[in-house]
Amino acid sequence: IIYFFDFKIILGKNGVPVAENFRLEQSTIADTIQVGQVRVRTLYLSVDPYMRCRMNEDTGSDYLLPWQLSEVADGGGIGVVEESKHDNLAKGDFVTSFNWPWQTVAILDGSFLQKLVPQLVNGRLSYFLGAAGITGLTALLGIREKGHVAVGANQTMVVSGAAGACGSLAGQIGRLEGCSRVVGIAGTDEKCSILVQEMGFDAAINYKKGNVAEQLCELCPGGVDVYFDNVGGDISDTVISQMNQNSHIILCGQISQYNKDVPYPPPLPPDIEKIQKERNITRERFLVLNYMDKQEASVLQLCQWIQEGKLKVRETVVEGLANIGAAFQSMMNGGNIGKQIVSVSK
Ligand code: NAP
Repeated sequence: IIYFFDFKIILGKNGVPVAENFRLEQSTIADTIQVGQVRVRTLYLSVDPYMRCRMNEDTGSDYLLPWQLSEVADGGGIGVVEESKHDNLAKGDFVTSFNWPWQTVAILDGSFLQKLVPQLVNGRLSYFLGAAGITGLTALLGIREKGHVAVGANQTMVVSGAAGACGSLAGQIGRLEGCSRVVGIAGTDEKCSILVQEMGFDAAINYKKGNVAEQLCELCPGGVDVYFDNVGGDISDTVISQMNQNSHIILCGQISQYNKDVPYPPPLPPDIEKIQKERNITRERFLVLNYMDKQEASVLQLCQWIQEGKLKVRETVVEGLANIGAAFQSMMNGGNIGKQIVSVSK
């Protein structure tokens, strides 16, 4: 079964992804593989916010290519090698790629695959798409490269999109790296309670209830020193208004703007930009792919924290390739707690 992607509804336009954008098709693959290739069975696929940008003809970004109409969609994936004609890969190896096709079985060029060591994540292979993969790297390297977090500096960190894949890790890593207070902003009471009770956040605000500015003011009495921004828009404007002199924004993502045709990163409204400039708040673009030289050491750090129980990991798992479109839509609408994963086969 091959999962095709169909653009015709929202190509290059504002709008929310809908079921009609996706089409499931059955197909056959070659029964022999060439030298250098492997045949893999897909175990897990990742759905991520950046895919919304790949649904536009102009992705708004220099490093993302648009998905092509009626071609198989792709993204982060994990699978097991079933047959190999590649020197470094053998039957039974677990492998991953950022460009895994949305197929149950695939023939791939072995040189584009990375071998995985399941023991590093206590056998929880799907973590390599989340806490021990790009998501964990984004949280860790975002904080280390742009957060200016220092042990003993008594910093308050605010995280938006806090119960999502990156956000839930970012708050915990902020604490591990030295922040003295961590406050999350998320979309439901259940998410807020998990952040505080499971993930060690000091407090969490449900942005769909009550006044965010008032709650933030109460919960961050010393102002905000580091803001891990996953969402942009009104929430970020509110947080930036309460940031301290010489504080730092980790510009991770702007999900509240992804269904609109706006450049990335979207400019701040003039009054908020004035605050940012007057208070000398840094807001540099952060892209995890620019720091891949730090991937290996950082993944090992994340795996160590996971094994030590210092990093709590949540996943929301949807079963079956046929449900990947729905899983993507659900994640974009806040249906996930932690990383949204699609389990394709066991
Ligand atoms: P995620 O947070 O697990 O899932 C997306 C979450 O966004 C949803 O669960 C939803 O939670 C929230 N959301 C959706 N619409 C929103 C809105 N209008 N306002 C506020 N919140 C909204 O996804 P993720 O993979 O961890 O990605 C989080 C952010 O990191 C995204 O912006 C993504 O683009 C970015 N990212 C950046 C890099 C990089 O290199 N810079 C790498 C990976 C990811 P609620 O229930 O709280 O609304």
